[in-house]
Amino acid sequence: MIAFNRPALVGQELDLIQDAVTRGHLCGDGHYTRLCNTLIADLTGSRTALLTHSCTAALEMAALLAEIGPGDEVIMPSFTFVSTANAVVLRGGVPVFVDIDRETLNLDPDRVAAAVTARTKAIFAVHYAGIVADMDRLAATAQAHGLLLVEDAAQALGSSFRGRPAGSLGDMACFSFHETKNIISGEGGALTVNRPDLIERAEIIREKGTNRSRFLRGQVDKYTWVDIGSSYLPSELVAAFLYAQLQEVEQVNERRISLCDRYRTAFAPFETAGRLRLPRTLQEDRHGNGHMFYLLMQDGADRDAFIQHMKQRGISTPFHYVPLHSAPAGLKFARHVGDMGTTDEVSDCLVRLPLHYGLGDDELDQVIAAARTYLERNAR
Ligand SMILES: *Cc1c(COP(=O)(O)O)cnc(C)c1O
Repeated sequence: MIAFNRPALVGQELDLIQDAVTRGHLCGDGHYTRLCNTLIADLTGSRTALLTHSCTAALEMAALLAEIGPGDEVIMPSFTFVSTANAVVLRGGVPVFVDIDRETLNLDPDRVAAAVTARTKAIFAVHYAGIVADMDRLAATAQAHGLLLVEDAAQALGSSFRGRPAGSLGDMACFSFHETKNIISGEGGALTVNRPDLIERAEIIREKGTNRSRFLRGQVDKYTWVDIGSSYLPSELVAAFLYAQLQEVEQVNERRISLCDRYRTAFAPFETAGRLRLPRTLQEDRHGNGHMFYLLMQDGADRDAFIQHMKQRGISTPFHYVPLHSAPAGLKFARHVGDMGTTDEVSDCLVRLPLHYGLGDDELDQVIAAARTYLERNAR
C-alpha cells in the first residue's frame, strides 16, 4: 500500500518529550510552548504566535477576537475544511461563501468585494494547498470597509506571497499541526496576531478568560476572570514534539517541494495535451510549501475512475472537500453569493496524490507509473 499521508519523525521529537517530562512541567505555557511561540512568530513574520490545540481552536479564537455576533457575516470560500465556517457559526454569525479563482483555488477578490454588506465583519481567506490567496487585493477590500482579515493558513506554514510569509498578511492567521500537514504534533495549531490591540485579549481568551499570562510575566500580582474564554493551550508534551518538528521546517518543506516538482515534470505532457490540469507553477509572487499535489481531471466520472484505478494498485488518492455551500450544515447556517461553478467543478474533478516527508523515490515512481497507465488508457 502507498498511503496518501504517513506522519514521520523528522528530528529530536522523542528526546525533547523526555526532556519536557524531566522538567516536571506538563501543562501548557512552559519552556517548549515559549520556544514554539517565538519560532512560529519568527517563521511567519508575525507579531505574536500562540500555540493552540488545533487550527480549529485558533479559528474559534479568531472569531471571538473579531467579535463576530449573531447575524454578522464573514466572507469565505466554500472550498475549504468545515472549521473555517464552524468558527463563525459557533458565534451566531453567518458564513457567506463566494466562488474561488480557477487558477489558485483561493478566494476570488472581485467576488469578495461584491459580497460585502452592512453586516460584513470579516474576511476569512484560505491558502489552499499552501498557495497563498491574493492578500493584497483582499486587504484593500478589508481596509475599504473596515473588515478584519484572517488567514486560514492551516496548510501554509512556510509559504509566502510577494516575499512576505503566510501569517504576516492579515490581522490574524491560523495554522494547523495536524498529522496531515507539513509540520505536525498529531493535533496542534497556532494563532498568530499582528494587530497590537488584539494581543492581550488573545492571551486572555486562550487562558480560560483569565489574565494568567500577565500574571506569569509578573505584570499583575494575582490572576482572575476578566473576559470570556476557553482552554485553547496544548500541553508541554505536544509543544516539545512540535518544537523538534519546527526546527526541521526547511528540510521538510524542501523535500515536499522536490516531490511536487517530480510529479509536475511527469504530468506536464498530459497538461499540455489538455488531458488534465495541474496546480499553478511557482511564480515570483507566490512561493508554496509543497503541501499538496493535485490533478484536476476532466469531470467527476474521470476522477472517480482514476481513484478506483489507483486503489486497485494499492495507492490512496483521495478527493477533497464536498463544498460547504451544498453540505447539510452549510444549507442550514450559511448562504452563498453568486454562482459557485468553479467550486463545484473543482470539487468534482480534484484528486490528491500521495505526498509526505517519508515518501520514497521508488514509491513516487510507482504512483507516477500507475497514474500514467490510467491516463494513457483513457485518453480523451
Ligand atoms: C486542516 C485544516 C483545518 C483544521 O485544522 P485542525 O488543526 O485539524 O483543526 C482548517 N482549515 C484548513 C484549510 C485545513 O486544511
